[in-house]
Amino acid sequence: MKDFDPIESLANMRHEFGEHGGVNMSIETSTTFTVMDAETMPAIFQGNRGPEDGGCYLYGRHFNPTVYVLGKQVASLEGAETGYCTASGMSAISATVLQLCGCGDHIVSSDTVYGGTFALFKEYLPAKAGLDVTFVDMTDPARVEAAFTNKTRLLYVETMSNPTLRVPDIPRLAKIAHDRGAKLVVDNTFCPVIVSPVHLGADIVVHSLTKFINGASDIVAGAVCGSTEFVTSLMDLHMGSLMLLGPTMDPRVAFNISSRLPHLGLRMVEHSRRAMIFAERVRNLGVPVIYPGLDEHPDHALLTRLANDGYGLGGIFCVDLGTTARAQQFMESLQNRGRFGFMAVSLGYFDTLMSCSASSTSSELSDEEQRRAGILPGLVRVSIGYTGALEQRWEQFEQALREVGAVGAKV
Ligand code: PLP
Repeated sequence: MKDFDPIESLANMRHEFGEHGGVNMSIETSTTFTVMDAETMPAIFQGNRGPEDGGCYLYGRHFNPTVYVLGKQVASLEGAETGYCTASGMSAISATVLQLCGCGDHIVSSDTVYGGTFALFKEYLPAKAGLDVTFVDMTDPARVEAAFTNKTRLLYVETMSNPTLRVPDIPRLAKIAHDRGAKLVVDNTFCPVIVSPVHLGADIVVHSLTKFINGASDIVAGAVCGSTEFVTSLMDLHMGSLMLLGPTMDPRVAFNISSRLPHLGLRMVEHSRRAMIFAERVRNLGVPVIYPGLDEHPDHALLTRLANDGYGLGGIFCVDLGTTARAQQFMESLQNRGRFGFMAVSLGYFDTLMSCSASSTSSELSDEEQRRAGILPGLVRVSIGYTGALEQRWEQFEQALREVGAVGAKV
């Protein structure tokens, strides 16, 4: 499983020169594309010509050359055949699910997914599209198997559950899905370059590019990676979820994100390095901490087996401060006095982002659903940044933990 290196894979991709031989690709802003002979246009509409068949483009909501290059770059990072990019992570997820499932079909989903995905699966898709979704604990393969029905079309997981940081056994889940004729879809937003789900057997990887891949918290975007057949189906003029629902990425945005991919590997290494050091030190203070890099994390051995060598085990850890009030006081102290990061949702920014998951990004789950998923009220999710000197940042963090009485407290 260790023979894939996402950064090497990206570097081996064909270099896309710009017009006039520019070292960067050009940004194709046109919303419509000409053909050199009239016969080509009906051929494009019939699906017989396209970007892969003679470099034919049609319209800006269909394939755009710049967005397609970014899609292929993200796909090469993932070891997937191809990919395409979308206006947001949620649109990548919803288009993928709607492409694979029709009215009456069934999805088996992890019970601990991003709150927006949870609401989409629990409320929106059943009400609007007649889909049936069963939520299960993905760390229990027997329950996953038992949840399948003859209508199950897809199994959906996140590489690292949000915010509990549990890790599913992707190769095992792929086998369970494939044995039952279903696809395994993995949201790899938390672990780009660290884990390569397609390489481990997943059929489709979705991303919120808004997070680590972009890295600057200034763009909302998404990606779908998989087989050429699947990605092409998303653009089908009659039944394509991207073509018909239209969550189009602007080519200028695609260019912007593309220029941040070359340093993604370096950024992930530093996010992971700092997360590991902080998690160890928090643990040594006796404060409960969740980080899959720690030996005592229940999925440490599994993640070590699944992860690519050299990028660490992720840039996110969670600290349990026992109560919501203490968690809020802790974040306020760090942001407003320590100038240590921000009290804000999202993750993967170069600075630290902190949020109390139970009352923010997981608030779509009921109290009972949160309890079952292990989302505790005082749990602070920390997406650790790499600004500032590490020792300066740690001093601020430790001081805030002491101020709120977390050190030595029984939570
Ligand atoms: N997947 C995960 C794991 C997320 O954390 C998020 C957003 O927080 C999304 C998907 C949705 O992405 P976006 O906000 O880009 O639509």
